[in-house]
Amino acid sequence: MSDLPGIVITGASGRMGQMLIRTVSDSPRARLIGAVERPGHAWIGQDVGAAMGGGDLGVTVSDDPLELVAGAHAVIDFTAPDATVDMATLTAQARVVHVIGTTGFDDSHLKKLEAAARHAVIVRAGNMSVGVNLLTQLTKKVAQALDEDFDIEIVEAHHNQKVDAPSGTALMLGEAAADGRGVLLDHVSDRARDGITGKRERGHIGFSAIRGGDIVGEHDVIFAAAGERIVLRHIATDRAVFARGALKAALWGQGRKPGQYDMIDVLGLND
Ligand code: NAP
Repeated sequence: MSDLPGIVITGASGRMGQMLIRTVSDSPRARLIGAVERPGHAWIGQDVGAAMGGGDLGVTVSDDPLELVAGAHAVIDFTAPDATVDMATLTAQARVVHVIGTTGFDDSHLKKLEAAARHAVIVRAGNMSVGVNLLTQLTKKVAQALDEDFDIEIVEAHHNQKVDAPSGTALMLGEAAADGRGVLLDHVSDRARDGITGKRERGHIGFSAIRGGDIVGEHDVIFAAAGERIVLRHIATDRAVFARGALKAALWGQGRKPGQYDMIDVLGLND
C-alpha cells in the first residue's frame, strides 16, 4: 500500500478538485496523501472526505503545500493560473511531477512554467480526456486534408461558472487545426465577433463560446465550405473523464526526464 505513488490535490474544494479527491482515493494504483486549499478557506483543518460531505479519508486540508509537496510523487492541479505558477516553483524544487489542468494562462505564466519544467516533469493539457485528445489529432488530420475553401470554426459550451473563454480545449483544437494547415494560430485566430465585423477572412479560425447551466464541456470543430460541412464533436457529460486522465498523467510522469508534456504524450497518440 505505502509503495503506491503519493498524490497531492490542490484546489481540493473546486469542482475538479473534489472529483480528483474521489478518483485518487478510489484508485488501487495511487494514494491520496494531501489536499491543499488557499489560506483562509473554510475547509482548512478539516478531513477532506468529511468536508466533501462523506466519510473521513484520513487527509486533512492544508494551506501549506511546502511539506506536502516534498513528500509527494505528484501534484494534480486544476486551480487558477497564478496559483498554478506558484505551485510550479514548489514542484520544481522538489522534482515532483506536476499535472496541470488549469486553463487561462498568459505568456508570462507560460514562461514561468517553461522555467519550472527544466527541473520537474510537467504534464499540462487544456483537456485531459482521451476523447478530446483523439479529437485534437483528428482535427489536425482533417485540416491537413482540406484547403482554405473550408472555413474552420470552433464552438464550445460550458457551465455558467467558467471564468475564461475560449476554453483551453477550444484553443487546443485551434492549435491543432492551425498546425494541420501549417500556420500559427496567433496569425489567423478570430476570438470575438460583435457588430459590423466585415466579411470572414479566408483561412482564419473562428471561436465562439456558449455559457450556461451545468454543461460539463462540449466542443465542435466545424469545417464549412460551399455546399458541405464536416463537424467533429466531443461531448463530456461527467468530470470524471478529466480526473481519470489527470491521474493517468501523474502515474505516467513517474521517472520521466524533466520537461513539458501533454496528454498526447501520455496517451501515446503521437503520429
Ligand atoms: P473551480 O470549481 O473554481 O475550482 C478551482 C479551485 O481552485 C477552487 O477550489 C479555488 O479555491 C482553488 N484555488 C484557487 N486559487 C488557489 C490557491 N492559490 N491555492 C489553492 N487553491 C486555489 O473550477 P473548476 O471547474 O474545478 O476548474 C478549475 C480549472 O481547471 C479551470 O482553469 C478549468 O478551466 C480547468 N479545467 C480543466 C480541465 C482539463 O481537462 N484540463 C477540465 C475541467 C476544468 P477558491 O474557491 O477559494 O477560489
